[in-house]
Amino acid sequence: MCIFAGQAYADCDSERVRLIVLGSGGPELGDGRASSGYLLMLDGAARILIDTGSGTALGFERAGARIEDLDAVLFTHLHVDHAADFPAFVKAAYFTSRQRDLPVYGPAGNALMPAVDAWLAALFAAPDGAFHYLHEYLDPQQASDFKLKVQVVDPPQGISAPLRAGAWTLRATRVRHGPIPAIAWRAEAAGCALVFSGDTSNAGRTLDVLARDADLLVAHNAVPQNAGRAALMLHMPPDEIGRIAGSANVRAVLLSHRMRRTLGREPQTLAAIRRHYDGPVAFADDGAMYSLLPAAEGAR
Ligand SMILES: [Zn+2]
Repeated sequence: MCIFAGQAYADCDSERVRLIVLGSGGPELGDGRASSGYLLMLDGAARILIDTGSGTALGFERAGARIEDLDAVLFTHLHVDHAADFPAFVKAAYFTSRQRDLPVYGPAGNALMPAVDAWLAALFAAPDGAFHYLHEYLDPQQASDFKLKVQVVDPPQGISAPLRAGAWTLRATRVRHGPIPAIAWRAEAAGCALVFSGDTSNAGRTLDVLARDADLLVAHNAVPQNAGRAALMLHMPPDEIGRIAGSANVRAVLLSHRMRRTLGREPQTLAAIRRHYDGPVAFADDGAMYSLLPAAEGAR
């Protein structure tokens, strides 16, 4: 399925880039959705995997994606609904022809959450990792077809220096998600820029800078406009998503991380966004593929 998500800017070769939503839900069971995860395709191949919440491994399979093709895995943060399926991807890779190392980028840690490198060690390192039977993917002394090349991404302020992964340029910024270390990602290839908010309240408004002139902002619609104070410490309400989209001049918005408290409230969500933003807005569903319409075909 290919759904129009918005008009790309003129320098975006929109025929080459596709976004597949592997999981459009949050942590709940009962929303009928996989937890958070996205796949960026370039020229028909799966290149960038962003978050691996539960159910995303099955979504990856259903999308016909190949682990061999991945240029990098990005984590926004390490909550269960963004990370739980990662061991399944690593084990599945054993049964593929993958030979090149797989970069894995994620946030730093704090007292509440390990950094991405410590988290991978807790999963895979010998002798104490939960899945240490897969330790060869981390240990340079052990023979394996490829290694996980882990890097903590923790820009102290502003946007990180660019990371290169295949044809992609990747940048991150810290975002506020309550007390949990979290980052948002900007991925660019073929002149197209896609930004992934991850879970954030956007306190500090760091997303505004990262999303500047993006072709698509994937924003998490985890709370309704009338959310309480505790929920707003973790997530941004719809009018904040609209404000970011408007002030950052993004070309289109895709709303994901849909939860039972926002499902069924799409008209109210859209109305709150429309107070600040008049561009294309779509609500994500699992397995949906999104493409950007070339600028020449769009009238905005
Ligand atoms: Zn989440």
